[in-house]
Amino acid sequence: MKTMIHYIRSLFLLELFKGMSVTGRYLFRKKFTLNYPEEKAPVSPRFRGLHAQRRYPNGEERCIACKLCEAVCPANAITIEAAPREDGSRRTTRYDIDLFKCIFCGFCEESCPVDAIVETRLYEYHFEDTDKVAGNYIMTKEKLLAMGDKYEAQLAEDRAAQAKYR
Ligand code: SF4
Ligand code: SF4
Repeated sequence: MKTMIHYIRSLFLLELFKGMSVTGRYLFRKKFTLNYPEEKAPVSPRFRGLHAQRRYPNGEERCIACKLCEAVCPANAITIEAAPREDGSRRTTRYDIDLFKCIFCGFCEESCPVDAIVETRLYEYHFEDTDKVAGNYIMTKEKLLAMGDKYEAQLAEDRAAQAKYR
C-alpha cells in the first residue's frame, strides 16, 4: 500500500507542487532580507556590544574601583589596578578589557553598582593587527572613557529603557 501511495504521489508530482506552493506563498510577502550595511536591523537597548565607561554629568568618572566586574567576569577578561587619589577617593589606575577573551556575557555591566562599565550598541568594529605587542584588542581605561563620552546620550537612553523591565 505504501508503495502505491508513493507511486501516485510521484506520478502527479504532488511533492513538487507542495514545495512550489510554499514558494508562491512567500513570493509576495514582505521581505526580511536587509541590504547590510546600507540597511541596518533594529538593535535592542539591551544589546551587548563594545564596552564603555560612563561619567557623571560633572565629568567625574563613575567607576569606584570596587573590582566587582573583575571578580564576576567568567572569562578573566578584566584587569583592574587601583589607588587612592589625592582627595582620598579610590579610582582605577588601570582598567583593561581583553576583547579576545571577552564573551560579551554582560555580567560586568550587571554587577556594577554605579553603572560605570556598560556595553554599547556598537557591533561594527574590527582589528587589523592581532600583534600582542600592539595590543589594539585591549580596551584600556582611556578608550573606554572615550567611548562613554561619545555615546553617553544613547547609553543613558538605553539604561532608562532597561530600568522599565527591572
Ligand atoms: S562581558 Fe562578560 S566576559 Fe566580557 S568583560 Fe564583561 S563579564 Fe567579562
Ligand atoms: S566598573 Fe563598576 S564594578 Fe567595575 S570596578 Fe568600576 S565600579 Fe566596580
